[in-house]
Amino acid sequence: MTGLTGLRALVTGGASGIGLATARALAARGAAVAVLDLEPAGMPEPLFAVKADVSDDTSVRAAVDTAATELGGIDILVNNAGIGAVGTVEDNPDELWHRVLDVNVLGVVRTTRAALPHLRRSPHAAVVNTCSIAATAGLPQRALYSASKGAVLSLTLAMAADHVREGIRVNCVNPGTADTPWVARLLAAADDPEGERSALGARQPMGRLVTAEEVAASIVYLASPAAASVTGTTLAVDGGMQGLRPRPAVRP
Ligand code: NAD
Repeated sequence: MTGLTGLRALVTGGASGIGLATARALAARGAAVAVLDLEPAGMPEPLFAVKADVSDDTSVRAAVDTAATELGGIDILVNNAGIGAVGTVEDNPDELWHRVLDVNVLGVVRTTRAALPHLRRSPHAAVVNTCSIAATAGLPQRALYSASKGAVLSLTLAMAADHVREGIRVNCVNPGTADTPWVARLLAAADDPEGERSALGARQPMGRLVTAEEVAASIVYLASPAAASVTGTTLAVDGGMQGLRPRPAVRP
């Protein structure tokens, strides 16, 4: 993995799960890292915490500028903050549709919009969005969440096209079900948490959940100079869930 010494990174939703693993991985490779989150108290050294809600444009602009001042600029933006929703297209009220799209889609818009003036000053500018397998595969009970991540996928491509001539690369990662506090909360709410965990693992050809560190390593790659010719791509980190169709094991 290419070193990131001298680069400055901002990670949204960086206080938990994939975002925290990404912030740690970027810092371990030498980047100066700011974490933007709702309540980013107690972040481990050397991460710099900025409090903001990605659904609030004023708070995002202030947090991005604070991070840029603290770090001396922004070269890498990881748009990772996100929330979930469970249900079919019949199940969720309009208010929840507006809320999830506001956080998951407009959150990416707001943070990127605020960071662009800083990214334009960077000789190595990269944006990585945390998308999802839900953007590319039909998952049951995820109508709203999938719609939000489908929008993130399309937005990634559009932003990559808009900013390629400015030297700003834009890519996304598509995790499968990952072992994070988010999924722990979903499992805790299930009637049979262990059975649900096994079912989610079995849905992925590798037979297990993805780790936050595995997703983080992919984000770090896309953000790094090693990926200097990579833009407008999606990188699946899903245990083979999107691309593979293994035959079910034959019972003796
Ligand atoms: P998580 O709940 O562990 O972490 C999400 C973080 O985002 C939290 O720290 C939370 O406070 C923050 N956040 C939420 N709303 C925010 C807001 N309005 N403003 C600022 N910060 C906010 O979740 P995770 O599993 O690490 O998920 C991170 C990203 O990965 C999300 O975009 C999610 O959609 C995506 N993803 C997760 C999985 C999975 O299985 N865990 C799979 C595919 C994609």
